[in-house]
Amino acid sequence: MKEHYKLVILGGGTAGISTANRILSEDKRLTNDILIIEPRDDHYFQPGFPLVGSGEMKLKSTRKPMSKVMPKGARWLKEAVENVDPVKREVETGSRVVKYDYLVVALGLELDYGAIEGAKESLGKNGVCTNYIYDLVNYTYETLEHLKTGNLIVTKPQSKIKGGVSAENSLFTMDEYVKDHELDINIVFRSGSHEVFPVKRYNDNLVAQLDEKGIDYKLEQELVEIRGEHKEAVFKDLSTGELQVIPFEMLVVTPPMHGPSILKNSGLLDPEGWVSVDPYTMMHNTYTTVFSLGDASSLPTFKMGSSVKSQMPILVKNLLERMEDQTPSHKYDGKTACPVATEYGHLILAEFDYNKIPEETTFLNQADDKWMFYQFKKNMLPLMYWHALLKGKI
Ligand SMILES: Cc1cc2nc3c(=O)[nH]c(=O)nc-3n(C[C@H](O)[C@H](O)[C@H](O)COP(=O)(O)OP(=O)(O)OC[C@H]3O[C@@H](n4cnc5c(N)ncnc54)[C@H](O)[C@@H]3O)c2cc1C
Repeated sequence: MKEHYKLVILGGGTAGISTANRILSEDKRLTNDILIIEPRDDHYFQPGFPLVGSGEMKLKSTRKPMSKVMPKGARWLKEAVENVDPVKREVETGSRVVKYDYLVVALGLELDYGAIEGAKESLGKNGVCTNYIYDLVNYTYETLEHLKTGNLIVTKPQSKIKGGVSAENSLFTMDEYVKDHELDINIVFRSGSHEVFPVKRYNDNLVAQLDEKGIDYKLEQELVEIRGEHKEAVFKDLSTGELQVIPFEMLVVTPPMHGPSILKNSGLLDPEGWVSVDPYTMMHNTYTTVFSLGDASSLPTFKMGSSVKSQMPILVKNLLERMEDQTPSHKYDGKTACPVATEYGHLILAEFDYNKIPEETTFLNQADDKWMFYQFKKNMLPLMYWHALLKGKI
């Protein structure tokens, strides 16, 4: 393996793999001069996890060996990045130091179950579920199938998260499951956020759905402790600081999340811990040989695969310009898409930009839940993910 690459990409997730494929298809001279550093054996289609948790998708269809998604023409270093020095243009892993001309940081984000007391010990038993860990997603549906009585609580933290509305997807589909099976279950939603959805058009419909369905929901409530053995969840009211204990039969946890901790001393992060890039060009605000996209980046939009879909082609154009010593001229407008299942078979497709202005793709009213959008997410999105987005063809 060489010690110096024209382009090094940190992370072989949605953003890393799609960027590598796209840039290779646009500039053949980069063949064998791109290194992807990624320690995992497998690549995951994470948007499928909530569908697995509500019994709508098979878990194994959300995973492929990493070797199968690695682009031909790029090299793979199967190690974790431990440090980056953007001044020397060096990346350090456990066994080597690699030099680069240009760097794309696509390390994703970190799940922080440790911020919730008792969470790590509780997950996967006593009805404590999460759709954010591959090995635990099946437990979510198993638990739902065995519910008889009591509270089913779905939680969401105040921090930025990936899959923005995955908690609400679980909430609504589980509510329908409970009603269809005539279970004596009380559905509870507790969110650390101060609003249900940041774009009014979609927020109005989602709030109406919560009310119509009779869901007990409260905002600015952060899950701070899980007492697994006692089946109790403790929430902190973020405005008053008061604690409330709610008993549960099933608890679906979306944990707090933060940016890549290995970059803490690299000079690449903003004060909030995300890779500090220009929101339009995606070039680093200090180091002009560094770009970032996806969940790790400071881009002020939802952390979604659909955001990567819009970011990646623009980043590639800008990076190629930068490689020719030009100023990046292409601009990302913050476009993202958030699918919210309001029940099995129906989905709102929120699409908007940095200004929170709806930017819908179809001629239909996407704030109204539609059968077609649900089928698209369940059946078309996985195909598009593996065969188009990851291959850089979108
Ligand atoms: C439950 C859930 C539901 C979701 N629902 C949707 C949805 O409906 N629609 C949608 O568009 N998006 C959804 N998403 C979000 C989407 O999956 C992410 O936004 C997308 O994967 C971001 O791509 P990324 O490359 O930035 O991060 P990732 O795809 O997470 O990739 C990051 C990569 O970096 C690697 N890495 C981490 N640390 C290191 C290190 N030290 N060294 C080297 N490599 C490292 C990781 O192993 C990983 O492969 C969902 C996510 C989840 C978890």
